[in-house]
Amino acid sequence: MEYRYPVEGWKISEEGFRPGELRESESVFALANGFIGMRGNLEEQTAEGAETIQGSFLNGVFDAEPIVYGESAYGYAKNHETICNVMDAKSLILIADGERLDLGKSNVTEQRRVLDMREGTLDRQLVWETEKGCVLVITMRRLVSLTRMNLAATRLLVRCLDGSCSLELESPLRPAVIAEGDPNDPRNAAGKDRRLLCTRREVQDSVIAMQQKTKNTGFTVNCAVDHRGEILFAAEVGEDSILWRGRVQMKTGDYIALDKSICYTASGRDEADSWEEAIEGSRKAPSFDVLADEQRAYLDAFWKRAGISIEGDDALLQGLRFNLFHLLQSVGRDGRRNIAAKGLTGEGYEGHTFWDTEAYILPVFLYTEPELAKKLLENRFSILPKARERARVMGHPIGALFPWRTIDGEECSAYFPAGTAQVHIDGDIAHAVKEYWQATRNLDFLAETGAEILIETARLYRDLGFFSEEKGGRFVINCVTGPDEYNVMVNNNVYTNSVAEENLRSAAAAVELLKKERPQAFAKLADKIGLQENEAASWLEAAERMYYPPAKDGIVPQDDGFLDRKPWPLDSIPAEKHPLLMHYHGLTIYRHMVCKQADLILAMILFGDRYTEEEKKKNFAFYDSVTTHDSSLSMAVFSILAAQIGEMQKACDYFLSSARLDLDNIHHNTKDGLHMANMAGTWIGMTRGFGGMRIQNDTLSFAPVCPPQWKAYSFCVEFRGRSIRVRADGNGASYQLLRGEPITILSYGEEVRLS
Ligand code: BGC
Repeated sequence: MEYRYPVEGWKISEEGFRPGELRESESVFALANGFIGMRGNLEEQTAEGAETIQGSFLNGVFDAEPIVYGESAYGYAKNHETICNVMDAKSLILIADGERLDLGKSNVTEQRRVLDMREGTLDRQLVWETEKGCVLVITMRRLVSLTRMNLAATRLLVRCLDGSCSLELESPLRPAVIAEGDPNDPRNAAGKDRRLLCTRREVQDSVIAMQQKTKNTGFTVNCAVDHRGEILFAAEVGEDSILWRGRVQMKTGDYIALDKSICYTASGRDEADSWEEAIEGSRKAPSFDVLADEQRAYLDAFWKRAGISIEGDDALLQGLRFNLFHLLQSVGRDGRRNIAAKGLTGEGYEGHTFWDTEAYILPVFLYTEPELAKKLLENRFSILPKARERARVMGHPIGALFPWRTIDGEECSAYFPAGTAQVHIDGDIAHAVKEYWQATRNLDFLAETGAEILIETARLYRDLGFFSEEKGGRFVINCVTGPDEYNVMVNNNVYTNSVAEENLRSAAAAVELLKKERPQAFAKLADKIGLQENEAASWLEAAERMYYPPAKDGIVPQDDGFLDRKPWPLDSIPAEKHPLLMHYHGLTIYRHMVCKQADLILAMILFGDRYTEEEKKKNFAFYDSVTTHDSSLSMAVFSILAAQIGEMQKACDYFLSSARLDLDNIHHNTKDGLHMANMAGTWIGMTRGFGGMRIQNDTLSFAPVCPPQWKAYSFCVEFRGRSIRVRADGNGASYQLLRGEPITILSYGEEVRLS
């Protein structure tokens, strides 16, 4: 198989300049820290003949404008929220004797870019022979600090190998160059006017600083860049930009260094401006070396905790590491910010957060960095008031409906059949709360945050469904869209009913538990949300009588009507007509028996005890034959069930595609940003699919299988204060308690005591 980047342990490297792939590699080489995100743009900004997508983002900073509907109706989402592409601070332009460095034009004899996943840096090295015959060796290094949320830094080293030149360096702070969106691609940013207003510029010695404001949402963004190096400089203040300009004479053997320390701050409408903090932050930032040391130490600890390895398949391991690395970079860390579908790597999906967070991404952190998982749930908790409001708009007198896609909590899905109708979002969040509780036993969290989410979402489902006479008095949930966006507004989507049932039960269980363990906190909560004595019983009744469409010849219909849709054999659809959503009207798709992504298959994984091995096998084969995997969220899930039912080849094929989806641009849209949910899906595939990990009767359980192509694999999980290493090979599994009190786990159903 041809890989885009050479297979290496900890690095993603690119030799030479590949102009045709620049936009994709800008996503691949992105750096971020949960707040600041920088695409892997070339320092010199452009290269003749190559298309680029410039991007610098601050998680949580967005602008909004009203959605213009041709035909609006009651309850439609009102505003587009779009992540802002803020001022760019990473650029550095080199001009030698008037000739500007440009990979498309200049005589660059060597060029190499490396994303180092242990150092947390993006490195570049190039050799430039100028028109006047001067040979310069240029090294550039960039990092976005994983330990200091407001800081990023770059380092430039230039050595003159031969000849002489007058070298000018330009370090601009300038508004983002906003790429054209594609209004015909719903996965893309729709090309709205997303420019920010430049409101302040200032030079203070070697620091240049700039302020921008969003047009409609009241955010202020500040960025200050300090320049450190023995270089004579001057600064120029332009209308909406500011330029630091240095000049040096170089001759054979000379050597110069320039470090930029970059500080971004942002404040919302009601918060004090942080202009001074940005300037001070950049001026007082630790040196590049200190930041780089901290970065390395942070990542060493993370990789140790995650402990992933695959012996015998380096390409796969590279993909796994790449995916984990980017997830770690993009995830919000302070409870105020979530993680967007594309993380902080691009503007695809406008920077929105979806169910991707809870169904895919959160479990990764839950078992590697539980504190980050908690922060993600706290972020959902912070938008609970908006979710309550939304539920009222949607006709529910009680409960909360989380937005299908959002940045700050407001529903932003303009197309409700594949948006607001996906009410499984509530159950996904509730499922994550339950799993967090199971994996951490953090009672404070449950009392202060988790229970309220569970109760409000349970209330929503209790109000949404009803006991249907038609269905023998069972509790039905009609007119919803499950995870599979090619079957919309259906009745009794199995996945939705499953997460709803679990949600109803978990809410009742949380009420019971808190009454006993935290009576005061419970009384306060009950008072706050007007919880009635009989509510929990009514949730349990609905859960008990939840309706599921009956299987036909062993095939479980994804929803009531799925098996009655027109067959559409996948091999009859030409390759160029994929993804279907770009080539067929929605109605054409919805009338057919075709899936965009795993839906029932995911239900069979999360609620595996409900299905026999035989049912899983039969349904895997059936849904595999009707699923296009047009969503990147699909293949990892198929890989998990395949591994669980012993379909090893399928499991490995799907796993590999998922592991390297962005590295190899398998979905052809890596340019718009990396696919975070899929990236997380790979980790889940390893632990849950091949590792057979799950929580069974409150006990952590594993049933590892090792595909014959691999020699062995291992991973570590954090669980209730322990760190456990799991290693599997062809002969079975072994476990090691790396930290924490002794614990009993299940291995292939047998109890094993780890101490
Ligand atoms: C998928 C959704 C997903 C969204 C964002 C869509 O293509 O169908 O399940 O939430 O992308 O990743």
